[in-house]
Amino acid sequence: MSTQTFEFQVEARQLLQLMIHSVYSNKDVFLRELVSNASDALDKLRLAALRDDTLDADVSDLHIEIEIDKDARTLTVRDNGIGMSYDEVGQLIGTIAHSGTATLLKELREAEDGAGAEGLIGQFGVGFYSGFMVADEVTLVTRRAGESQGTRWTSRGEGTYTLEKVDDAPQGTAVTLHLKPADPENQLHDYASEWKIREIVKRYSDFITWPIRLVSRAATAEGDDSAREPATLNSMKALWARSRDEVSDDEYHELYKHIGHDWRDPLETIRLQAEGTFEYQALLFLPSHAPHDLFTQGFQRGVQLYVKRVFIMDDCEALLPPYLRFVKGVVDAADLSLNVSREILQQDRHIRMMQRRLTKKVLSTVKDMMAGAPDRYATFWREFGAVVKEGLVTDPENRDAILAVSSFATTHSDDEPTTLKSYVERMKGGQEDIYYITGESRQSIENSPHMEAFRDRGIEVLLLTDPVDEVWVDAVGEYEGKALRSVTKGEIDLGARGDEKGDDEREKQTEEYADLLGWMKEQLDEDIKEVRLSSRLTVSAACIVSDAQDLTPALENMYRAMGQ
Ligand code: ADP
Ligand code: MG
Repeated sequence: MSTQTFEFQVEARQLLQLMIHSVYSNKDVFLRELVSNASDALDKLRLAALRDDTLDADVSDLHIEIEIDKDARTLTVRDNGIGMSYDEVGQLIGTIAHSGTATLLKELREAEDGAGAEGLIGQFGVGFYSGFMVADEVTLVTRRAGESQGTRWTSRGEGTYTLEKVDDAPQGTAVTLHLKPADPENQLHDYASEWKIREIVKRYSDFITWPIRLVSRAATAEGDDSAREPATLNSMKALWARSRDEVSDDEYHELYKHIGHDWRDPLETIRLQAEGTFEYQALLFLPSHAPHDLFTQGFQRGVQLYVKRVFIMDDCEALLPPYLRFVKGVVDAADLSLNVSREILQQDRHIRMMQRRLTKKVLSTVKDMMAGAPDRYATFWREFGAVVKEGLVTDPENRDAILAVSSFATTHSDDEPTTLKSYVERMKGGQEDIYYITGESRQSIENSPHMEAFRDRGIEVLLLTDPVDEVWVDAVGEYEGKALRSVTKGEIDLGARGDEKGDDEREKQTEEYADLLGWMKEQLDEDIKEVRLSSRLTVSAACIVSDAQDLTPALENMYRAMGQ
């Protein structure tokens, strides 16, 4: 059968170059990536077989096998999972379909040190390619479950790969790495060493729910005991089903990296067990960094659904509301059908109750973090505050809980955000309302003429710069009986300062200046409704004010941009 040669896409080639010349000190993670792919492939096959009993596939002994051949210096990671068709290999392995690739490459170019670049690699999940950190050639042989013909893919990572149809491929996928020469100075890091492989699997992949078996070729050839049962390296226990004190933080973190496709530790681990008529276990994680595509339409939610340890689906949107879409994790429900569909989940009463409970748990965890770990809370809010605030508009039931964990930039401090609670505590006698200003950046709004009178009187103003701020302030309206008021809207009476004139005086002045005000109104008639004297300015001569019910300038721009 003929072998065809293909060129990698430009983006794929750039990523491969990065892998080949990687200076990343922790190359061990390549094995985690291959095992993670194998585990996904087994999950997919089990599910496919459950859903379609005509599927011609062997599901009797699903497992992952790692085979070391010391003489040939190869390492093979093999699974008997779903496999890939010829076309799929081309699509999934030969190209990089991820929409974030362009962004990734841009950031890679900008990342100065190697460590920064490696970080990005993990974040964008270019898992399979990481094999090229330790190998100078990679071969993949695969056969899709239910199909008769297999495919062989080979590449040295240098710009081209070959594809070939093969007749005798077993079901599933085998990835063989032709290892780079071992560093004689550093034998402990030789990936052809059994000891090394055991150690990596234990550290990164212990929780994988499929057996990971080690087969050592050289040992067999030496006449060791060829009939020896291959050793299972992992304990295979689902972490969410084990009690808290049995599991180390590191183990939780490795699970997070597997399901979250992230290389960094999570900020917080959340556990929840529900017993009774609808039993489930949840293990959720708050990541430490917002992914680059959090605000794009196709953003993939991170929570996976299992039914009694059987993986059912990724990105299960019914489990958490959209404003918590960055939460990663696993929910394992005991009483759902394995055939449950997304549509059914959306309507299921139990799932809705579960969603409410999980939402409250996430919010209460953030609240605890705020009280007990202010630094971590600050990181959380910096990364995810703009998303969480969407909930102020979309989830009235939890509005108070969300407000309680929200914090905002304020004129009170240059760098420390404030909660509404602290703002209210600082309010001066006579101040009735909570003042805010919205805009694109702190700097531009702090220098707005609207701020003069507030600065002058020492009245604190919240500085709101996220697009969603325009919307939630209207939806929420007030906090503990204090109205949320924009400093750019309507008539704001800040009361007289010592050296200022009272109402009578203002009236007298208005009469005095009637001619001037009338003339100005005439000149600007097309653009304004009214000209009035004001005490809100101290330095600037004039400013434009909207009616309280008018749109703020930023919202006006937003609607205009949307063509309304
Ligand atoms: P990711 O796992 O984040 O999708 P990878 O680069 O690790 O990215 O893998 C790319 C794709 O290749 C996977 O999504 C999967 O569809 C396919 N793939 C990789 N390894 C296997 C495997 N062992 N069995 C079946 N499909 C695989
Ligand atoms: Mg992967």
